[in-house]
Amino acid sequence: MRLDKFLCKSTDYSRKQAIAQIEQGEVTVNGETITTPETQVHENNTILLDSQRLIARPSRYIMLNKPIDTLCSNVDGDYPSVMNCVDIERACDLHIAGRLDADTTGLVLITDDGRWSFNIINPKYHCEKVYRVSLRDAITAAEAVELKARFAKGLQLQGEAKLTLPAKLEVVTSKEVLLTISEGRYHQVKRMFFTVGNRVVGLHRQQVGKLKLDIEVGQWRYLTEDEVSGFN
Ligand code: URA
Repeated sequence: MRLDKFLCKSTDYSRKQAIAQIEQGEVTVNGETITTPETQVHENNTILLDSQRLIARPSRYIMLNKPIDTLCSNVDGDYPSVMNCVDIERACDLHIAGRLDADTTGLVLITDDGRWSFNIINPKYHCEKVYRVSLRDAITAAEAVELKARFAKGLQLQGEAKLTLPAKLEVVTSKEVLLTISEGRYHQVKRMFFTVGNRVVGLHRQQVGKLKLDIEVGQWRYLTEDEVSGFN
């Protein structure tokens, strides 16, 4: 990780204060004074500030059941930030691994470990997300067969060069389906149903990878070690 990030994870300094300490020559890495905050360091390096060894706090991994009309951002905007639900110290160090729209509910992963969230977000890793989708227009059994085939083949979304990756559609009722996708394009689920002439009127993420949402709306919990390593 970056040296300034490491300082934030091992002291009470803000990012700005950490950068100032580094630029003033107060920090050594393996005996060498380092004045560039972006220098990459490893937790095993011997990093001293004012001759004191720094030890990074363990990373945090959180599941949240996002309420409707909240923003997946660190600050409030048109709606309150989901971070208001997570009442822990240094919440400002956390970021969201895969955002949901304000009107989407469900499973949001939050962490301060950028490498871990990269595995979830990067389309290269094909991390599957399962959405429960409420539709405006009911679909018949015959339409469901056709839709399944179209989603499995990949759709051409407006303004996009590449087809969507194969997605799995399972019918729950005529107006409710489960959709499994393994990428996270902008408004992807809504745009996929728009492309086939329907509209999404309710969207809930219930699973990411093998991890299933198991807490009430507005609640959060730390992930277990096994759950965390499931994304490595
Ligand atoms: N697809 C969408 O359209 N919205 C979301 O919030 C997530 C996936």
